[in-house]
Amino acid sequence: MKKYLMTPGPTPVPPRVLQAMHRPMIHHRSQEYGKLLGEVTEGLRYVLQTRNDILVFSSSGTGGMEAAVVNLLSPKDRILIISTGVFGERFVKIAERFGIDVETIRVEWGQAVDPALVSKKLGKSRGIKAVFATLMETSTGVTNDIQAIGEIVSKYPAVLVVDAVSGLGCEELRTDAWGVDVVISASQKGLMTPPGLSLMSISPKAWKLVQEAKLPRFYWDLRRYREFLGRPSPQNPYTPAVSLIYGLREALKMIREEGLAKVLRRHERLAASTRACMKALGLELFAEARPANGLTAVKVPQGVDGLDLLKTLQRYGVTAAGGQERLRGKIFRVAHMGYIDISHVIGSLKALERSLPELGYSVESGVGVRAARMGWKE
Ligand code: PMP
Repeated sequence: MKKYLMTPGPTPVPPRVLQAMHRPMIHHRSQEYGKLLGEVTEGLRYVLQTRNDILVFSSSGTGGMEAAVVNLLSPKDRILIISTGVFGERFVKIAERFGIDVETIRVEWGQAVDPALVSKKLGKSRGIKAVFATLMETSTGVTNDIQAIGEIVSKYPAVLVVDAVSGLGCEELRTDAWGVDVVISASQKGLMTPPGLSLMSISPKAWKLVQEAKLPRFYWDLRRYREFLGRPSPQNPYTPAVSLIYGLREALKMIREEGLAKVLRRHERLAASTRACMKALGLELFAEARPANGLTAVKVPQGVDGLDLLKTLQRYGVTAAGGQERLRGKIFRVAHMGYIDISHVIGSLKALERSLPELGYSVESGVGVRAARMGWKE
């Protein structure tokens, strides 16, 4: 049976990327590695639309989030976290663990933040050093308006830190044009590479904070990464995940070949198709306003057990994701992120059309898939 991995990370890895990782090991202090790292950095600059420094770490995305906190801040610093779901809350947990004074804007799950709230909060609360936001809130399937938030934050001394772990390569993110000082992402989503790498871009304004920050850090000390990157042949301070870096280089090449604008447009169309299908099946989207392009979150219909739905989909070869934390059993999430085209989406939506009636939710066979096809053409 054909298998469809439709989870919001890890996402399917293209054969080209798998093949690129199948190489003899090289030494990470060699010229050859320096060239490889240089190419990966340039490829990431293209996807992030930035000229800022880019650092790559061996870790999952959460490591990158922690790296941002410990490198920008000192104990008792005040920050603002915009929390629209599980991943906004992750920033809160990390920052509180390090003794940071955290102010939050908490938005009802399923909604994006209203940028006017950010403006109000920054106007009222003095001394905020950094604002943390999430590009695509993977737990709810919502995208925040980073452009508008960037415009607001740029009027204040604070730096803007954006978690684009899932959003990068799926949603527009103009790092420099929108004034995003720090972007965090990871390899296993829109970047079509196996899990294991996180990455960060850092603006000159953010580097100033890195110099002043007093929180303890060792592995995550960005100053070391910058120092090694600046050597005649660029390096990482510690042994990098060389095979994954080979994979990432190939994935970045693929994004360049397709063209970033086209990659983003493909995600937009896949999302439109998926939403059209869900609506045609009479299902309710969890995020009505600003739904994400990388995944679609859908309410589990009444009378259907959300966990059974996932198990049934699995029998048809489709791995989708359930709801996290308070959304467990209440929503299901179908990702269309990274190396996905319309045939994957149609294939998995067909499985959904077959699964729902088995669980007592009757649907007219073919309506959803037809709507998805129409949605793709628009
Ligand atoms: N932020 C967002 C928006 C995410 O989607 C994820 C992963 N689902 C993370 C952070 C955490 O990344 P990781 O699981 O790689 O640590």
